[in-house]
Parts: sequence; C-alpha cells; structure tokens
Amino acid sequence: MRYLVISDIHANLEALRAVLDSARGEHDRVVSCGDLVGYGADPVAVLDWTRENVSQVVRGNHDKACAGSEDIEWFSPAARSAALWTIAVLSPEHAAYLRNLPKGPVQADGFQILHGAPLDEDEYLVNPVSAFEQAPVLESAIAFFGHTHVQGGFRCHPNGVLRIPPVRAEEREWVLNLRDDETSLINPGSVGQPRDGDWRAAYCLYSPEERTVTYRRAAYDLLSAQRKIYAAGLPHILAERLSVGR
Ligand code: ZN
Repeated sequence: MRYLVISDIHANLEALRAVLDSARGEHDRVVSCGDLVGYGADPVAVLDWTRENVSQVVRGNHDKACAGSEDIEWFSPAARSAALWTIAVLSPEHAAYLRNLPKGPVQADGFQILHGAPLDEDEYLVNPVSAFEQAPVLESAIAFFGHTHVQGGFRCHPNGVLRIPPVRAEEREWVLNLRDDETSLINPGSVGQPRDGDWRAAYCLYSPEERTVTYRRAAYDLLSAQRKIYAAGLPHILAERLSVGR
C-alpha cells in the first residue's frame, strides 16, 4: 500500500490538480491532515473531491471555522473574511460534512494523522522541543501533521530530535528513510498555501513497505488560482502571498 499524504489544501483547486498530476500512478490511497477550505476560491470543488477520493481525513481549524462551529474572533482579518465568504458559498450539506470531520489524531493503518500537535489539534508544531515532548503521546512510530504550512517535520530519537528539511528550491523531491529507533512526525507541507518560502504545492508519498517518505513539490497554475481569489472578492493578500510562499 502506498499513500499520498496531503494537508492544508485551503480551497486551492489548481494546486490540488498539480499534486494529483505529479503523483499519478504512485499511490493507492490518499489521506489528508485537514484545512480543506478557507483562503482559496474553490471550497466546493475541493470538498467534493475529498469526499470521493480521500480515505481518511481530520479536521483543521479552518474547517471548523467554515463549518460555522468555531468562534472566528481570533482569526486574522483576511482569514476571517475568507471564512465568512466560504460559509456563504457552501451548501448545508457541505457545511455538515465539515462539521462532522473527526478530530485528530486519527489512527490509520499503522500510522496516525493529525492537523496540529498530538496533544492539541490547534497548536502549531514548530518547536522541536514540543515535538519531542509530545511524540510519546502518539500510538504509532509515524504520524503526519499539517497546520504550519511548512514542509518537513521532526525525527524524534530517545536521545534528541532533528528537524526535517523541505525539498530544496531547485529540486522536485527528496527521500527520507524511516528508522526503527525513531518516532517520525512528518509534515507533507501545504498543498494550497505554502509558507516555507517555496510557492510550489507541497505533498508527500509514504511507502510502509519501503519505509520511505518522499517529499515533493509541484509547480501549479498560480495565475488562475490568484485570478479566482480576486474575482471572488476575497482579500488580495490571499492571492499575493501565493506567489512567494509566505
Ligand atoms: Zn492551514
């Protein structure tokens, strides 16, 4: 079994399509670490695709906000107006789907998926010390998370923790060999709104048999995604930041 692992699509259909083209024929199942919607202009298409094609998914903070079940007072002004716009375009059925997404960590076949941190789905797992402290909570030696929009993650060994780097700007992929003496917290990066300085859509492929995680980046039709954001009347910053991956 080979897995395509994605996170933080954020209603960016162009980025999602590029990921699927790039990973075609290389996976049997898709799992998602949440934040399907919010920020981008294609929430309905992304939700429809997810319902059809993703075998397991956890909810993200934007999914909760766009389901109308979360207080959005703490969101930035751009995130808040994107959430309100998304709530307005979703059908009751789509909103119900978002509302019923499970909270992570969720157990998959030999691994776990979560949105934020093992102990708190809304926490940004950016600090290696925090990753090291929370790794024992996990029930598997490998877990996939998102929320930070930064590709990489952490390798936790009893003696310490190492930060995993993203794919380099001039490359398309790199392969991490998983080790039996480590707990691996893997962040595939964000499909639809990367914030690690690389504008390309991020994802990873996981092969339990080969014990590898392949980190990837895929260039996508950025201009179309940006045009849709402008046309929808969403805050311009949400389009502009896509060009720089910040
Ligand atoms: Zn997100």
